[in-house]
Amino acid sequence: MTQQCEACGGVLLDMSDYRQWRQQAAPSAESGAEDHEVSDSPSARGCPSCTRLMQRYRVGLTPDFRVDHCPACQLVWLDKGEWQTLAQAGLTASLGEIVSTAWQRRIQSDELRALRETALRSKHGDACIDEIKRMREWLNTQPQHEELIALLRADW
Ligand SMILES: [Zn+2]
Repeated sequence: MTQQCEACGGVLLDMSDYRQWRQQAAPSAESGAEDHEVSDSPSARGCPSCTRLMQRYRVGLTPDFRVDHCPACQLVWLDKGEWQTLAQAGLTASLGEIVSTAWQRRIQSDELRALRETALRSKHGDACIDEIKRMREWLNTQPQHEELIALLRADW
């Protein structure tokens, strides 16, 4: 289902072949601890089939690299090491989702949340933020958590 470029080690995936493969293959994370070097190309590349610029889609915060997608030809280009890195992260079955706006929006909101947390940690310190997170997680498990939060604020 793939074509590999001998020169750069990149891989071209035909998304219709990929979907067939995905239906047959049980998604599983590869357990090899070996780290694969990812050579994410810095700029957009032309589609090998129609030569138009491919759209870049970010995979996530970790691992953080971009895959190139041509929606017209339904082709995805993965730079050297990217497929292996997806496999390690258990994401080979998610490629169809990755090249969607919903996935991209989720990365953006994850990133905003991470930025906010970093800012809060530098303002209040790690110990404080860890404690608040611990309390919040515990509160969320309580059926009457709204009442408990009100108790926290109340003078009683
Ligand atoms: Zn194309």
